Amino acid sequence: MSLMCRNLPRVDNTSMDDGGPTALASRALREVYGYATFRGDQADIVEHVTNGGDAIVLMPTGGGKSLCYQIPALLRQGTGIVVSPLVALMEDQVTALRGLGISAAYLNSTLSWEGQREVEAAHRSGELDLLYVAPERLLGEGTLGLVASGKPALFAIDEAHCVSQWGHDFRPDYLGLDTLAKRWPGVPRIALTATATLQTREEIATRLGLGAARLFVSSFDRPNIRYLIEPKAQVRDQLLRFLRDKHPGEAGIVYTMTRSSTEEVASWLRARGVEALAYHAGMEASERRKVLNRFLREDGVVVVATIAFGMGIDKPDVRFVAHIDLPRSVEGYYQETGRAGRDGLEAEAWMAYGLSDVIRMRRLLATSEVDSPSHRRNQEAHLEAMLALCETVECRRVNMLGYFGESSSACGNCDTCLAPPESWDATVPAQKLLSTVVRLRRERNERYGAGQVIDILRGKTTDRVEARGHSTLSTWGIGADLDVAQWRAVTRALLARGELAVEEGGHGVLGITPSGWEVLRGDREVAVRREVIAPPAPKARRKRAAGAGVGASAGVGASAGAGAGAGTAPSGPEDSRTRPLFEQLRAWRAAEAKNRGVPAYVIFHDSPLRSIAEFRPSTLDELSEISGVGKAKLAAYGEAILAIVHP
Ligand code: ADP
Ligand code: ZN
Repeated sequence: MSLMCRNLPRVDNTSMDDGGPTALASRALREVYGYATFRGDQADIVEHVTNGGDAIVLMPTGGGKSLCYQIPALLRQGTGIVVSPLVALMEDQVTALRGLGISAAYLNSTLSWEGQREVEAAHRSGELDLLYVAPERLLGEGTLGLVASGKPALFAIDEAHCVSQWGHDFRPDYLGLDTLAKRWPGVPRIALTATATLQTREEIATRLGLGAARLFVSSFDRPNIRYLIEPKAQVRDQLLRFLRDKHPGEAGIVYTMTRSSTEEVASWLRARGVEALAYHAGMEASERRKVLNRFLREDGVVVVATIAFGMGIDKPDVRFVAHIDLPRSVEGYYQETGRAGRDGLEAEAWMAYGLSDVIRMRRLLATSEVDSPSHRRNQEAHLEAMLALCETVECRRVNMLGYFGESSSACGNCDTCLAPPESWDATVPAQKLLSTVVRLRRERNERYGAGQVIDILRGKTTDRVEARGHSTLSTWGIGADLDVAQWRAVTRALLARGELAVEEGGHGVLGITPSGWEVLRGDREVAVRREVIAPPAPKARRKRAAGAGVGASAGVGASAGAGAGAGTAPSGPEDSRTRPLFEQLRAWRAAEAKNRGVPAYVIFHDSPLRSIAEFRPSTLDELSEISGVGKAKLAAYGEAILAIVHP
C-alpha cells in the first residue's frame, strides 16, 4: 500500500550503512514529514520507543506528540496500534497520514462490515504502518485476537488522561488497557497526554501499568498564544468586537457554560454576520458531527460550544479561543485555550470575566452535591487558582505555568505584559463594604447580594433601600466616591481573595470570612487591579501596536516558531509582498481539498504555504527544502505549486 514508508529500512534489519535508529529517525522526519529537525524531546522519545522502551509523554497540545509514536511505528517491524477515543476524527487522521505516504487505517463503529474486513486483512498481511482503534473496540476479544494475528510494533495510548477518574474526560474503557502489558510484555507502550498535573501523571503510571516507563515532560508553554483577560461588561458586544477587529473570517472556538447559551450566542452572532455554529452534548450525534465537520473542513467557522467540544480537535489553524464564562479550573482553561494555534502561528486566547461569574461559581460550589469533602476541596482549589489567574497583576503565563509546576519569566505576549495593569489600594473601600455586610447581618439580621450592598454604599435610593430603611445604616452613602464598576471590582477581588464568601442557601448572598475580618481590623491590605474599560475598538488597535513594539524588542514574533512568523493580522511591507501569493496558494488548496473531499490542512498547513509565498522556490529541489513538504507531498503537489509561484 504505502510507497514511501515501505522503502524506509526497519531498525531490525538495519545495516551499518543506514546509520542506526537515530539516523533512520531523522531520515523519516525529513522524507516523510518534510521537517528538518526534531522538536524538544521528540528525538529522545522516538529513540527510546524505537528501541523498545515504554514511555509516558506529557506535551502541550500542538507540541508534536504524534510523531513520537508514528516514527517508531514506521521504524519497527509490524503495525503501530494507536488507541484513541476520538472516533469522529480517526478518518481525517488516517487521511492525513496517507497523504504523507504512510499506510494507515482505523477500526471503529463507523466502518462498514466490508471496510472492517479489509482493514483486518491488511493488518494480518503486515501491510499497515499504523492502525487506529477506539479503546472499547480494542478490548473486545475479537480485536485482541486480530492484533495478535499480525505483529504489533508498539501500542500508543493517546489522550492517556482519559484513564483519570477525577478528570473531565474519564473513559472507563481506558482502565482495561493494562491488559496490553500482560498480553504483549515485549511490545513497547507509549502513553501521551496534554494534561500536565502530577495527579494525572501518577494515575496514568499506575492504572496503565507504566510505573517503570520513562517519563518525558515537556515545557507546557505555548509561546505563540497571546493570553488576554478583560473585565466583563456587555459580553456579547465585547465578543463581537473581538471577532470583528481581530479575527474576521478566521476559525475559532467560543466557550460558554450552558447548552442554551451556546445556541443563543451562536444565533446572535449569525445575525451579525459571523459564521457561528452551536455545539453541545445535548445535540443529536449526527448534528454534532455535522458541526465538527464544517469546523474542520471549511475556512473561518466559529463554534460556540460547551466544554463538550474539545478533546482532539486537532485543527491546526484555530486562530482564537474565547471564553465568555469563567472556566472551572486553570487546567481546563489551559487545555481549552491550547486548541488555538497548533500550527505554531500567532493565536489568541481571550476571556471576559466579571463579578457575576465569581458569584455563580461560588454559589455552584456551595450548593453542589459532591460525594466527599475532599472532592469539594478539590473543586474549591480549582476555582481559587482560576480566580487568582484572573486577578493577577503579573504575567498570565507565569501564573499558569507556575500552576503546572513550571517556573518562567514574564512572557511579553499576554495582556499584563503588553499593558501592565496598575493596582490601586482598595483597603478602605473594602473595609466599607465588609462593614456593610456585617452591619446588615448584625443590626438587621439580613443578608444581601452584591447589588444591594453596592446601592447602600453609593447611597442610592431604590425602592428596596426605602422599604428596608437601609438609608439609616451608618454605612449608607459612604462609598459615593466610587462608581458601580469600581465597587463591583472591589467585590470581585474580595471574593477572589476569599475575604468575602457567597453563602449557602441564598441567591449569591454575601458573608464575611475570617480573613475578611482581618481586612476589617486593618491587618490586611487589599490591592485591586485597575480596570481599563476603554472602548475596545481603539484598545484593540493600541494592543496591536504595543504587541508589535514588544515583538521587535523582545522577540515575540520569533517565538511563534514555525513558518514565516507572519501573524494573523498581517501588516507591514513583508505581508503586502507575500500576501497575494499566499492567498493564491490558499485558494488552490481549498479547491484541491474540495476535489479530494478532505480538510484543507490535510493538503498543507498554513505555515508551509506562508514559507512558499515568502521564499518563492523555483525548482522541486528548492520546494522540498520548505518545512512541511515531504516526499509524498512533493510528488503529489510539487508541480502544481511551482506553476502557481512562477506562472
Ligand atoms: P499534538 O498531538 O502534540 O497536539 P501534533 O503531533 O498534532 O501535536 O503536532 C502539532 C503540529 O506540529 C503539527 O502540525 C505537526 O505536523 C507539527 N510538528 C510536529 N513535530 C514537528 C517538527 N519536528 N518540526 C516541525 N513541525 C512539527
Ligand atoms: Zn506575560
